[in-house]
Amino acid sequence: MNRLFHPGRVVFDRIVRTRVPTHTQRLFDTACVLGGSVAGLLAARVLADHATTVLILERDDADEPPRTGVPQDRQGHVLLPGGHMQIEKWLPGFSGDLQDQGAVLVESKHQAVYLDGRPRLPNRDLPILSATRPFLEAAIRSRVLAYPNVSALPARVTGLEFDNDEVCAVRYETDDGPRVLAAEFVVDAMGRSSKAAGWVERAGFQRPIEQRLRSDINYATALFKRSDDVAEHPLTTLALFTSPGAPDAVALGAALAAERDQWMVMLTAYEPDRPPASLEQFRATCAKLPPVFAHAAKGLLTREIRTYRQADSRRRDFTALQHFPARLVSVGDAVASFNPIHGQGMSSAALHGNCLSMYLSSGPRLSQAATQFFHLQSVVTDAAWALSTGPDAARLDALHGNEVASDVAQQRWNFDQVLQATLHDQSVADVYTAVSFMAAHPSLLVEPALVERAVRANERSSTP
Ligand SMILES: Cc1cc2nc3c(=O)[nH]c(=O)nc-3n(C[C@H](O)[C@H](O)[C@H](O)COP(=O)(O)OP(=O)(O)OC[C@H]3O[C@@H](n4cnc5c(N)ncnc54)[C@H](O)[C@@H]3O)c2cc1C
Repeated sequence: MNRLFHPGRVVFDRIVRTRVPTHTQRLFDTACVLGGSVAGLLAARVLADHATTVLILERDDADEPPRTGVPQDRQGHVLLPGGHMQIEKWLPGFSGDLQDQGAVLVESKHQAVYLDGRPRLPNRDLPILSATRPFLEAAIRSRVLAYPNVSALPARVTGLEFDNDEVCAVRYETDDGPRVLAAEFVVDAMGRSSKAAGWVERAGFQRPIEQRLRSDINYATALFKRSDDVAEHPLTTLALFTSPGAPDAVALGAALAAERDQWMVMLTAYEPDRPPASLEQFRATCAKLPPVFAHAAKGLLTREIRTYRQADSRRRDFTALQHFPARLVSVGDAVASFNPIHGQGMSSAALHGNCLSMYLSSGPRLSQAATQFFHLQSVVTDAAWALSTGPDAARLDALHGNEVASDVAQQRWNFDQVLQATLHDQSVADVYTAVSFMAAHPSLLVEPALVERAVRANERSSTP
């Protein structure tokens, strides 16, 4: 089934609108979060409402960047407004903290998006909080660790212990040697390379079913000094290329105002192409993109170019498992990591937090696997997966000359009509923006009325 038609819109809207509970029941003495990056921190915030003590085990010393456990954190990141709204809801004051420290809240009139070199109609009302990923993560961490019942321990998690059908403890190592922590609820937030599925399988349970789709995307990101003379340039610019012939094979370029008066400039390209790793070439490519790129990249380099490659999008499906331990869930990239050019990872992690809160507030049967949680979470994953893997699947089919079923070809044509109409029709652009910012469900993009409107707008724009 095409995931765009997944009947999850109602559930997605409920997840997005979930409120922070005002009265909660303490369900656990100790809850343990494995991995203290964005997803783990947000899960810890949710657990703070339900556990006497929440302990985060993180192998990196987060106060000593750069973080080796999060190699992608040196690449350009956009916190989508959908995720930003969720984080602000769970951690009120988060945006203000960040702005006080120099992050830039970019109102829609200072944002720009280009599609194949042409400006897309403006986003009308969703500001973007623009900063580097370590900066965002540090602000989340300090807010979460301010909860008196949440703490973090530098430790490498090495395994889980089970009591019959439940997780009951976490094994970990610190400088003082191996340890075991008894926990009544465990959240795996160890990222896309999490070993939790293997630990579960070795203990005799079922392993979540993993699905992968090649993305083969190469990144290069550098930081430059941002001078005051930016008035004529947008503060966030995304330049997306969907058709062949993009300058230097750029798939997505981003020029984003960041903290400490910097520009974060990011170039990406699909294999076999690579964005330039030398400054000279980087600037030369920027000169072929909308003017803000050359402007940003001509400044003093404040952090050299870093490259990164992500081979595939991945998701692990927990919904169909017959034998999975109780009191154990996964969140964030440990569940699904997408082609990063769509910027969905942190926002998905935030929505996983909402799912966790809904589950824990619903009086769950903790002696059974958290199936209700997995179903909620899969709605979030389906939504992000549909939007990011659709274009990847189309690109791979074109690359390999695959024959495409007529219904799939029709859906792709419809999607392309909607995308192209974001250049000419404000209503279509508004829906597309809300979906791509993870504030609305992607099934909106296949509504026949929207597709018809898009087709008409494209016809009008091509009529001389
Ligand atoms: C190139 C690139 C660009 C991206 N751009 C965007 C973007 O623009 N917008 C966006 O929202 N998202 C983006 N993402 C995704 C985003 O980085 C992640 O979704 C986000 O970091 C949340 O991930 P996470 O917390 O689940 O996992 P991670 O950030 O991968 O963190 C996992 C954590 O677990 C820890 N850990 C792992 N194993 C152990 C262990 N055994 N013991 C203890 N700790 C352990 C690690 O040290 C790490 O801190 C991008 C990703 C990539 C690769």
